[in-house]
Amino acid sequence: MSKSDRELGMGRDISRRDFIQGTSLASLGLTLPAGVALGQGDPAAQGRYYPPTRTGLRGSHPGSFDAAHAIAREGLSFESAEPTGEHYDLVVVGGGLSGLATALYYQDLFGKNTRILILENHDDFGGHAKRNEFHQGGAMRLALGGVHNLEYTSFSPNAQAMMDRLGIDFEAIKAQTGFYYGEEGRGSPCTWFDAEHFREDVLLRDFSLAARDFLNNPEQVGRIPVSDQARDRLVRFSTLDTHIWPQLEWEQIEARLRAISYFDFLREHAGLDDECLDVFNNFSHGVEGWSVVNMSAYEAMDIGLPGWNLLGQGLESEEWDYPMVMFPDGNASVARLMVQQLIPTVSPGTTVENVSVADFDYEQLDRSKNQVRIRLNATAVRVKNITDGVQVNYWQDGRVLAVQARHAVLACYHSIIPHLCPEMPAAQKEAQQYQVKCPLLLTNVLLRDQAPLKRAGISVLRCPGRLHSRVLIWQGNTAGGYADGAWDTPGAVNLTFWGMIKEPPGELTLKERLRASRYQMLGMELADYEREVRQVLDQVWGPHGLDVKEDVLAVSVNRWPHGYSYYYTDLWDPDFEAGQYPHEVASQRFGNIAIANADALADAYTHAAIDVAARAVKELRSA
Ligand SMILES: Cc1cc2nc3c(=O)[nH]c(=O)nc-3n(C[C@H](O)[C@H](O)[C@H](O)COP(=O)(O)OP(=O)(O)OC[C@H]3O[C@@H](n4cnc5c(N)ncnc54)[C@H](O)[C@@H]3O)c2cc1C
Repeated sequence: MSKSDRELGMGRDISRRDFIQGTSLASLGLTLPAGVALGQGDPAAQGRYYPPTRTGLRGSHPGSFDAAHAIAREGLSFESAEPTGEHYDLVVVGGGLSGLATALYYQDLFGKNTRILILENHDDFGGHAKRNEFHQGGAMRLALGGVHNLEYTSFSPNAQAMMDRLGIDFEAIKAQTGFYYGEEGRGSPCTWFDAEHFREDVLLRDFSLAARDFLNNPEQVGRIPVSDQARDRLVRFSTLDTHIWPQLEWEQIEARLRAISYFDFLREHAGLDDECLDVFNNFSHGVEGWSVVNMSAYEAMDIGLPGWNLLGQGLESEEWDYPMVMFPDGNASVARLMVQQLIPTVSPGTTVENVSVADFDYEQLDRSKNQVRIRLNATAVRVKNITDGVQVNYWQDGRVLAVQARHAVLACYHSIIPHLCPEMPAAQKEAQQYQVKCPLLLTNVLLRDQAPLKRAGISVLRCPGRLHSRVLIWQGNTAGGYADGAWDTPGAVNLTFWGMIKEPPGELTLKERLRASRYQMLGMELADYEREVRQVLDQVWGPHGLDVKEDVLAVSVNRWPHGYSYYYTDLWDPDFEAGQYPHEVASQRFGNIAIANADALADAYTHAAIDVAARAVKELRSA
C-alpha cells in the first residue's frame, strides 16, 4: 500500500530546494537536511546566475511560456514595442541546437564580424538539450534534462562536419560510455507491475515487454499480474510461432502492418483482449512521443514489441543495438560547445575534453561588446519584414522591446510562427500548425547514496503502469571530463525517470490526444510529480534500504509540453506529394525570414536540427 505524503517525505519543503540555489542559506535562516552539502563548485551558491543547478519544475519552467501562450492561446498582439536601438545582421528566435547552429553557419557564410542576437524564452540556452546539475550531497552530479544522445549512424555529411568542428569524436565518446541505457547493468532490465495499476506488485528481473525478453519466456510472462484469462492469452502469444500470411510478399505484409493498429493486429491474430493490450501501452513512452495504442503494427514492432513471431520470424529476436554517443548531460554539452565557439569568453579554454564539467559564465552571454549575444528569458512575440530587413519584438521582464536586423531565422516551434508572423501565406501558416509536438517528461532525482540501488541490482526499471515508463540509473559515462560519472563512484547518484502523460481515452485524433496530454502536464503541480517518484522509489528500492524520507536530496522535473517534433505516422497522416509535405511548405523562406528547428524536417533529432539550420542560412544568401 502506498504511503501518506508525510511518510514519503513530501512535507520536506520542496520549494526550499529551489531557494537553495543562488541564495545564502543563512540569510533565509535555513539549514540543509542532515548530510546535504552544496558542492564548492556550485556557481549559484556563490550568487551567480547559473540555471543548470536550479531544481523543481525545469524543462519548460514556470514563466517561460507565458508570453507565447498569451499570443497563441489568448490572441494578444504585441505590435507596439519599445525600440532598444539595437541593430543586428541576424536575429535568431530560439536558442536550441538549431538556433545555435544557425548562428555558427551564419558566421561562416556572412562573416565572422557579423552581429547576431539569439532570443530564447527559457532561462538557459540549448532548448531541449538541457542540463541538470546537482551539487547537493557533495561533488557535482550531472544529468540530462532533455536530449539524450547523438544518433550518429543517421548523420548527414553536414551534421558530421558540425561534430568535427566541435571536436566530437564518436569513437572516443563511445569508449567513455559504459552506460547503455542501463540495459547491460546487473539484473536488468527489470519490469515492475505495480498494484495500483495491476492486480498486485510484481517485480520481474531480466524481463521486459520487448520481444527479445518477452518471447519464448512463458514462465516470466505467466507472472504478469493480470486476470487468469489475460495471463493465459499473454503466455500463448509469447510462445506462438506461426505465419499468418504465408502467401504474401514482404511488400504486401509491410503494407498490411502499416494499415492496421498494433492493438487491432494483436486482437485479431494473437487473440489478446484489452486487458492484455494495456500491459504494452506505455512501452513507447519517451522513445516515441505517444502511446502504443496510436501506433501501427509495423511501427510498434519496429521499436521492439513482439509480433514478428506471427509472421514466420520465429521466437528469437535480435539483440538491441541502438547507436549511442552521449555526454553525461546529454546533448547539453553539444549546446555548450556551440555556445563556447560563438562566445569564447563564456568558458575560455573549454574543449570537448572538459566541456561537461567546465564552468560557464552566463554573465558573458549578452554583453554589448560580443559579436554574438544570447538573450535568455526573452520570448519573440512579433517578427515582421521591414524595408531592408526585419523587426523582432520580444517580451522580457514584462516589457515588449524591439530590435532590428538584416535577417531573421525562426528556430522556434513551428506552431507559434503564424502568431509571430501573421502575414505569411495562409497555406504556410496552416502547414506550420500541422506541427503538434509530443509532450515528454524527464524527472531527475538525486539520491544521497547508491548503496540501496546496488543492493537492488537494478540498472533500468520499466514500469508499465506508471507515469514514468522507465527509470534509469545515470552512471557509467565519463565523457566531457566527467570523471565522477564512472559506475562505481561512491556517494550521491542520480536516477532518471523518463516518460510522458498517457493520452486520455476516447474518440480523439492523435493530435487531440497530444494536446490533452500537454494540458494535463502543465496543470500538474511539482508535488504531483514528486509524489509519483517518491512512491516508486519507496516501493521498489525501499525494501533494499532506501529511506525515501531522508535519502531524496533533490528533484528536477523537466516538463517538455512541446517535446519531439511531430513526425508522420502510418495511421494518422495522409500521403503527401513530394514537396507538399507540411514541413516542406511550413519552412519556406518568407522575405528576410528563414525557418529552421527540427520541426522543419518533421524529424525529432539533433542532426535534423543542425541540417535545417544550414539550409535556412543558405536561403538567406538570396534574401
Ligand atoms: C525529452 C527529449 C529527449 C530527446 N532526445 C533526443 C535524443 O536522444 N536524440 C536526438 O537526436 N534528439 C532528441 N530529442 C529531440 C530534440 O528535439 C532535438 O534533438 C533537438 O534538440 C531540437 O533542437 P531545436 O533547436 O530544433 O529545438 P528546441 O530544442 O526545441 O529549441 C527551440 C527553442 O526555441 C525556443 N522558442 C520557442 N518559441 C520561442 C519564442 N517565441 N521566442 C524565443 N524562443 C522561443 C524554445 O523554447 C526552445 O528553447 C529529444 C527531445 C526531447 C524533448
